[in-house]
Amino acid sequence: MDISPYQLDLTQAGTRRLDIRLAQDLTLPLTVVRRGDGPAVLAVGGTHGDEFEGQIAVTRLARTIDAGEIQGTLILMPFHNVLACRAGTRLTPGDSSDLNRLYGRPKGSGPAQSIAGFVEEMLLPHVDWVIDLHSGGDAHEFVLSSNVQARFPSPEYNAMLAPLLAFDAPYAIVFDEVPSSPHMPHGGTLEGAARALGKKAISSELGGAGRVSAQSLAVAERGLRNLLSFIGVVPGDQATPPAQSRSQLLFLGRPEHHVTIRTSGCFAPMVDLGTEVRQGDLLGHIEGRNDAEPIHAPTFGVVVAVASQGRQQAGNAVFYLADNINSART
Ligand SMILES: [Zn+2]
Repeated sequence: MDISPYQLDLTQAGTRRLDIRLAQDLTLPLTVVRRGDGPAVLAVGGTHGDEFEGQIAVTRLARTIDAGEIQGTLILMPFHNVLACRAGTRLTPGDSSDLNRLYGRPKGSGPAQSIAGFVEEMLLPHVDWVIDLHSGGDAHEFVLSSNVQARFPSPEYNAMLAPLLAFDAPYAIVFDEVPSSPHMPHGGTLEGAARALGKKAISSELGGAGRVSAQSLAVAERGLRNLLSFIGVVPGDQATPPAQSRSQLLFLGRPEHHVTIRTSGCFAPMVDLGTEVRQGDLLGHIEGRNDAEPIHAPTFGVVVAVASQGRQQAGNAVFYLADNINSART
C-alpha cells in the first residue's frame, strides 16, 4: 500500500506492507507488524547499499513474519537507503551522501535527507529499540559480530552487554569513537540518534567485501531472531541466553586500533581476520614500485577488519584491531 508519511499509523493491529511516499520518485518499503502491548522495535537493513546481510535478513523476515508470532510492534525497514540499495553502493547515487552521517543534524534537501528526516520524526520517537544491521561494504571485511556504541567500562556498556551477547555472533564488539580519527564516527548515525533519544540500539558488522556468504547470512538471520526474542517482541525459545552466548567480547576504541597507511599502492596483507597479534607484528605491506611500506601492529589485539580492495590510498585504515575483553563478561 502506497501512503504518505502522515498516513502512517503505528497503533493499527496486524501486518501491513507499506510503501512510504517521501517524494514523487521516492518510496521507502516498510512492513509494520503489531499485536497487543509490548516492546516496539525498528529493525533496519541497507543503511549502506553495499552491505547485504541486513537487507536480506530483514526483507526475509518482513516477507514471512506473521502478526500471531509477535507481542508488541515490529517495524521492518530492509532498504533504509533505498536508492543506494538499488544501486548496490554505500552512498546515495547522485549526491554521494552517506545516510549514516545525516542523523541528529539539520537536514538539507535530497532523498537521503528525506529518509533520515522521516525516520527521525515518524519512527524513532515511537520505538524502544533500534537494530541496524551493517557489514563491511565494498571497502572492508569484518569478523561476524554484533556491535554496540559505548565506552568501556561504562553504565551504557553494562546496560547493553546482555543484548549484545544475545545476538550470539562469533564476536561481540563494543565500539567507542576515536575523536582524532575520521573512521567510524558515532555522530550522524542512526544508532547515535536513537541513543540520544534514550532508545536502546544494537548494530552489527557481518562480513563485507561487497558480497554475502552462507555463513554471514546465517549469522545475520539467526542473530536478528535471537535479539528479537531477547527483547520479547518475537517471543520464542530459539534465543540463546546471554550467559550461553559463544560471542568473543572485544573492545574497539583506542586510536591504535585503526591501522592506517602512509603511502598509496597495492595492499598485501599477511594476517587474516581473527588473528591475535602483538605490538610490532608485521601485518602486511603497501607495495610501491621502488619501495614497500611495512605495516606494523601499533598495539596488541585481534584483527577484526581487513581492507578488501587491493588498491589502497594513503591515509586509509587497512586493518582494525580490538582488545579481547572476554574476561569482563562475568
Ligand atoms: Zn554500514
